[in-house]
Amino acid sequence: MLNRNIETFLGCEATFDEASIVLFGAPFDSTTSYRPGTRFASRTMRQESYGLETYSPYQGRDLSDYAVFDSGDLELPFGNPVVPLRMIRERTETILAKGKLPFLIGGEHLVTLGAVEAVFAKHPDLHIIHFDAHADLRSDYLNNPLSHACVIRRCWDLLGDGRISQFGIRSGDQSEFDWNYGNQHVHTRLFDFEGLSQVLESIGDRPVYFTVDLDVLDPSIFPGTGTPEAGGVSFTALLEAILLVIGQANVVGCDVTELAPTLDSSGVSTAVACKVVREMLIALGA
Ligand code: MN
Ligand code: MN
Repeated sequence: MLNRNIETFLGCEATFDEASIVLFGAPFDSTTSYRPGTRFASRTMRQESYGLETYSPYQGRDLSDYAVFDSGDLELPFGNPVVPLRMIRERTETILAKGKLPFLIGGEHLVTLGAVEAVFAKHPDLHIIHFDAHADLRSDYLNNPLSHACVIRRCWDLLGDGRISQFGIRSGDQSEFDWNYGNQHVHTRLFDFEGLSQVLESIGDRPVYFTVDLDVLDPSIFPGTGTPEAGGVSFTALLEAILLVIGQANVVGCDVTELAPTLDSSGVSTAVACKVVREMLIALGA
C-alpha cells in the first residue's frame, strides 16, 4: 500500500486523539523590525528535521516513544497582526480544550502573544519563562504596540508583576531597562541562565508558559535570525537550561521562535532549531 505524502516534524506521527503534545506552526513575520524570513521556519524545520535522529543521547530517550501530533501551519494573513494573533489563540484553545499541550513554532516572537492569551485564560495563575537575547519589553515599537519587540510587555499587560522571568538578555532600549529598574515588573537575568533553578523553585507547581526565542543563542552557532546579538549562550548551555525548566516546572504551553531560514545560508541554524525542538518534545513527553 502507498501512503499520502504528508510531511510532519521528525517523529511526530501520532493522531490528534493519541497525542499528549500538539505542534503547530505560525508562519508570520510582518512586524519583524530588521530582517524578515521567520515565516519560512516551520516548513523548513519539518523538512530538515529528518537530518536528525529521533534518539537523544542527552536524555537517553527516543522521540518516537512519545505521542506528538503535528497539526501543520496556520494559514495566516500577512500585514496587520490582529487576525493572525486571534487565529493562533484559537488553535491554542482547541488544543488546550482536549487537555493537550500546545507547542507553537514561529514565526517571529509576536506569535507567542496569541498562545499566551489562550493559556492564560485557562490558567489565571500562569507564569512565563522567557529565553531571549532581547528583553522585548518596549511599550511600543515605532508606535506599534503589537511588534515582536513588545511581545513580553504585552504578556506582562496580562499577567502583571512578578510572573515573568527572562534569561540570556543582552539587548534592549534604555526605556525598557528603566521601566523594569530593580526588576520591579519582570525578573531579568542578563547574559546567561544564572538563578534559573531558584526561579523555578519559587514558581513551584504553578503553570508555566515557556517561550524560547532562539536568538538567545550566540550568532556563531545560530546566525539564521533577523536580529542576531553577539555574546549569546552555547547550545549546551541552552539545552541544560531547557531540560531544567521542563524537568522542574509545570509547563502547560511552549514555543520556539525567530529562526529565519532565508538568512541561514549554511543550514546550521535550522539544524540547531530542530535539535532544540526534538529535545523539548522528548523532555515534555517523558
Ligand atoms: Mn524575542
Ligand atoms: Mn530576540
